[in-house]
Amino acid sequence: MGPIYFREIFKEKIWGGQNLGRLLGKKLPAGKKIGESWELSDFGQDLSVVAEGEFAGVDLPSLLAEHSRQITGCEGVSQFGLLFKFLDAVETLSVQVHPRKHEAWYILEARPGAKLYLGLKEGVDRRHFEAAVAEGTVEQCLAEIEPQPGQCYYLPAGLTHALGADLVVAEIQTSEQITYRVYDWQRGRPIQVRLSLETINFQARAGQTSPPAQQPGQLQRLVDSDYFSIERGVWPSDATIEIAAGQMQVWMVLEGKAHCRYQDTTVQFERGQTVLLPACWGGEIQIDEQMCVLITKPGVRLEA
Ligand SMILES: [Zn+2]
Repeated sequence: MGPIYFREIFKEKIWGGQNLGRLLGKKLPAGKKIGESWELSDFGQDLSVVAEGEFAGVDLPSLLAEHSRQITGCEGVSQFGLLFKFLDAVETLSVQVHPRKHEAWYILEARPGAKLYLGLKEGVDRRHFEAAVAEGTVEQCLAEIEPQPGQCYYLPAGLTHALGADLVVAEIQTSEQITYRVYDWQRGRPIQVRLSLETINFQARAGQTSPPAQQPGQLQRLVDSDYFSIERGVWPSDATIEIAAGQMQVWMVLEGKAHCRYQDTTVQFERGQTVLLPACWGGEIQIDEQMCVLITKPGVRLEA
């Protein structure tokens, strides 16, 4: 088994747009507001299907059921555990909180002044927040950040969060279903006040890494959590990267191009593609065009 990539699943959203085509080369349906491209998922009904090669047409759960050890390095893993997406927020999303889901956002593009809403301002406790919900002043409780492209934010479970308008991000998260809408900017969609209040961790803060400009040939650590780690790799044209077998990793290609040989086929890594490198595979990846990639590995809480 060699590196595998999957067909993306596009999601139309009222807050979405067409930026994933321009930025990542996605072939989006014309005229549709695409908010999300699900890159790798075994979540609910949204099952990623292998795009090419010997497993073309097979979905991720079936692949895991047959080849758990080869893909993950362990027998009997029935759930992939992680979900990978690209998001295009043309408009602000509702403010949410999850009881168990941990997420990371890597900023691909941010218009000047675009905002992330991460956590609550200093001093906002449950009592304050409940009063703000009742008075319709939740906005004043939310901590705001103006993110820059290349930054990465880690959102632990229990943290209130929303993407503001004019942001494009890569999102890596644990696949957990439950989401409560805390606040919808007075747009009228239902909110789950009581469940949100029970879920919000009023002390939670986002983790942030702002890696300096990267010299080609380096790896930089963006996230290191119990659930997953993320590194950013930048390599110049003509570099060769050695991958040792032993641990599954997922590459989200943000810029550039590469390829590798597996038996008698060539696997391409292109901008906007998400590629699964199974644990059983080791080999060489040849860079064809300077490449920037997010590399995610499962953490200790997911392995096993
Ligand atoms: Zn979320």
